[in-house]
Amino acid sequence: MIIAIDGPAASGKGTLARRLAEALNLPHLDTGLLYRATARVLLDHGQSLGNEEAAVAAARSLALTDFDADLLRGRQMGEAASIVAAIPQVREALIEMQRTFARRPGGAVIDGRDIGTIICPEAEVKIFVTASPEARASRRALELKGQGEEIDYAEILEDIRRRDARDAGRSTAPLKVAEDAVVLDTTKLDIEAAFKAAREIVERRLVKSRQ
Ligand code: C5P
Repeated sequence: MIIAIDGPAASGKGTLARRLAEALNLPHLDTGLLYRATARVLLDHGQSLGNEEAAVAAARSLALTDFDADLLRGRQMGEAASIVAAIPQVREALIEMQRTFARRPGGAVIDGRDIGTIICPEAEVKIFVTASPEARASRRALELKGQGEEIDYAEILEDIRRRDARDAGRSTAPLKVAEDAVVLDTTKLDIEAAFKAAREIVERRLVKSRQ
């Protein structure tokens, strides 16, 4: 069973994907890490994020075991990742790795922006997790505060809007709701309520697919 979870930055999709994977005993891949790691390789080598050739080489050099998620999850890396993610050949270079992970026997939970539309259009369950930009900015602000970083709410909201516009506006694999995805709006839900709703979506889909 493949469970595809897509959605914009700070929508809570990563937490939901991780919790679903734990509950269902499935492996989980956060595909944002692939774009973040690609950007990191470029920055570590002093190359520009717009250098397409270097970006493709960086994407091709990745292995799924390479990631230090803590190093990659920072705010600047999200922004950098969205720049390299708009390069079509970078996306192309990362497709196979994602599909191989998702299509392993037994299935997987995989989250990102284009999982239900491009990477795994065949996924049995597709959830598009979203929330208002303001709710996402508030959550991100709290999270950063918890990590000891004091960042202005307005600045975070601006980051989120900029990243949404870039992710939804790019020509290749833009962020969008797959036709057969269920939209889960978490604006007014806490994590427990969102998780409960996501589990119900999975269960409903599974019952339907068995009919
Ligand atoms: O999900 P996360 O915030 O870690 O993703 C970082 C960036 O990577 C996103 O803003 C997006 O531009 C890109 N991304 C993507 N496709 C995916 C996952 C992430 O374009 N499947």
